[in-house]
Amino acid sequence: MPRVRESNVVAAQWSPNGSIGTGDLTTPGSSIYGANVFGPDEQRQRLPKTIFRQLQATIDRGEPLNPGLADAVALAMKDWALERGATHYTHWFQPLTGSTAEKHDSFFGPEHGGTALAQFTGKELIRGEPDASSFPSGGIRATFEARGYTAWDPTSPAYVIENPNGAYLCIPTAFASWTGEALDKKIPLLRSMSALNKSALRALRLFGDTTTARVYTTIGPEQEYFLIDEQFFYQRPDLVATGRTLFGAKPAKGQQLDDHYFGSIPERVLAYMLEVERELAKLGVPIKTRHNEVAPAQYEIAPIFENSNVGTDHQQLCMQVMQNVARRYGLVCLLHEKPFAGVNGSGKHNNWSMSTDDANLLDPGDTPHDNLQFLFFATAVIKAVHSHQGLLRASIAGAGQDHRLGANEAPPAIISVFLGKELEDVFTAIAAGEPAASAAREMMHLGTHVLPDLPRDTGDRNRTSPFAFTGNRFEFRALGSSQSPSLPNTVLNTIVAEAIDALSEELEARMAGTKKKKGKSLEDALTEVIRVNYTTVGKVVFDGDGYSDEWHRKAAKRGLKNLRTTPDALPELISDQTVAVFGNYSVLDERELHSRCEVLLEQYVIKVNIEAETAADIAATMLLPASARHLAMLREAGLTDLAEETADLVSSFTKAIKTLQTANLDENHPTDLMEEAEYMRDAVIPAMNEVRHFADKLERMVADDLWPLPRYSEMLFIK
Ligand code: ADP
Ligand code: MG
Repeated sequence: MPRVRESNVVAAQWSPNGSIGTGDLTTPGSSIYGANVFGPDEQRQRLPKTIFRQLQATIDRGEPLNPGLADAVALAMKDWALERGATHYTHWFQPLTGSTAEKHDSFFGPEHGGTALAQFTGKELIRGEPDASSFPSGGIRATFEARGYTAWDPTSPAYVIENPNGAYLCIPTAFASWTGEALDKKIPLLRSMSALNKSALRALRLFGDTTTARVYTTIGPEQEYFLIDEQFFYQRPDLVATGRTLFGAKPAKGQQLDDHYFGSIPERVLAYMLEVERELAKLGVPIKTRHNEVAPAQYEIAPIFENSNVGTDHQQLCMQVMQNVARRYGLVCLLHEKPFAGVNGSGKHNNWSMSTDDANLLDPGDTPHDNLQFLFFATAVIKAVHSHQGLLRASIAGAGQDHRLGANEAPPAIISVFLGKELEDVFTAIAAGEPAASAAREMMHLGTHVLPDLPRDTGDRNRTSPFAFTGNRFEFRALGSSQSPSLPNTVLNTIVAEAIDALSEELEARMAGTKKKKGKSLEDALTEVIRVNYTTVGKVVFDGDGYSDEWHRKAAKRGLKNLRTTPDALPELISDQTVAVFGNYSVLDERELHSRCEVLLEQYVIKVNIEAETAADIAATMLLPASARHLAMLREAGLTDLAEETADLVSSFTKAIKTLQTANLDENHPTDLMEEAEYMRDAVIPAMNEVRHFADKLERMVADDLWPLPRYSEMLFIK
């Protein structure tokens, strides 16, 4: 039997490993939720009361951490971890690459007399010093001052990771240079959350709220992914090296039947999902939904939302667990944005809101007062997105995303806001300065100072919008599936903080009045502020089909940005406007912004380069030889016409490979990073596409037993 077919047979075989069923879910003892987390319950039991209270104050109210606490916490944490079999600990952090980093240290240190003693004090808990020189810093850290340090983040709980042969304690940490610059993705996120907290509290005071002590942002990222059998994965050097297929003809059966979305979940996949969810539950990551996605072999997992910092850490954990557990089922979990051409790619829908301890600020609410406040915050979000479209676009840029954004199944690269008909009507009516007409009339009688009764979760959906209001939150749908949610949320929090402040100022001025003019009531002032602002920022609101050509034309007319590729988008990270807003809110200074832009550009170049070299190698050493053998076979069989046709194709293929190899040569790459990124986009990617074009044609001609790569029709459909 030819090689590929044989592996299909193996891939199709699967039997459950392990016992069936779980414990009795009505008994509290069988709940595994949070079992491997050093959370509040464990802390309460293990820490002296005063220390526990102080730690909670830091966690809940963001009060500065008393370093004196650290020793007691470290001791309790260590005992707890040792009881769970952890021999090592690590400061777990998120360098600028977007992945996570950990270096394990043993708890045990040698004692004289030849014994070992578990050591872990407050000093070790609070600060670690990894050899940071090999993490990208985008020029912040010269090699002579290569040290960086990690600092414990007490607001994200520590947890134990289990392995068949042991366990270790993970301590979420921030990562900074000795000069205090953020070298990671956590610090700016935390800074942006503080910024938003401050601005939102100021606004709440205007609405007469004198008690709320903090506002925090929440995220619930819906994660899309593919699962394929590992047999196929390891036969594809492109998947192994780059996470996506660089070759592959469209299968006869694609997703045109639309039979996969929300379809029943195949048994092996369901078994996998259940184990992923169980592992995540132990780690305190709450999972809410699972379902099939649109493409064959594509699925989605979504957690219950949490505060942005913990939610971001948990999202990283989620991706890690998803990939690890897959191997236990003979599967590989693909998180790439576009693993297969011609079928849907994978995104991460970032549900986002602002919340007090009691209420979601983007929930329209039941009373007119709540509605007013909601309209204020919703206006701020629209204003923020309008002012910083380019920056939002840049925050989700990356090589994988360039295959997805703007394609027919993903949000377009133009950032617009979808509000849903009812809410859009309300805004339009306010902007027009008139009581709303017809449909909206019952809901809002602004002219008579009776405040609008706003629609709640209308179920209105617009799948083509990159930034949609979904009833009580906004959903930033353009994130890539492999992406850390950190930067997009840092951007969102910061720009919304700025917009809230701008609106608050306008509101304050109108409510205060002048010597000649009496101040206005909150309702009147707000109506005016919304009218004035919405007239401009409403340009970013769009409820039509974001994929259509018509929208592209309209958007251009409205002056909206359409930054199609990563090199187009990334300069937005260092634009004057970005530097100003990030500086004003002390989230990232200019150097830190430049470093991020540089690292992201570098990553783009490196990723495309790896793809291009992998493509050239596969083409030259696997596909071309197969095609040549096939050609020889045709000639031997005397199939002259077919042989001639094939020979033409093979010769075009050979030429395309040569062109790609030349494009890949170091000496042909510009030295300036930005120019190199553009070169990758304009010269290398097209050369790669050309090679693929001929390869995919050949795939349909070359004898099945000669073609060396598993096909889409196998990878996507054999489960
Ligand atoms: P849909 O299919 O409607 O997009 P899902 O149920 O798949 O919705 O996912 C919705 C996500 O939105 C979940 O992760 C959920 O926790 C999250 N979410 C709900 N409310 C909020 C909120 N206030 N802030 C942030 N995320 C939220
Ligand atoms: Mg969903």
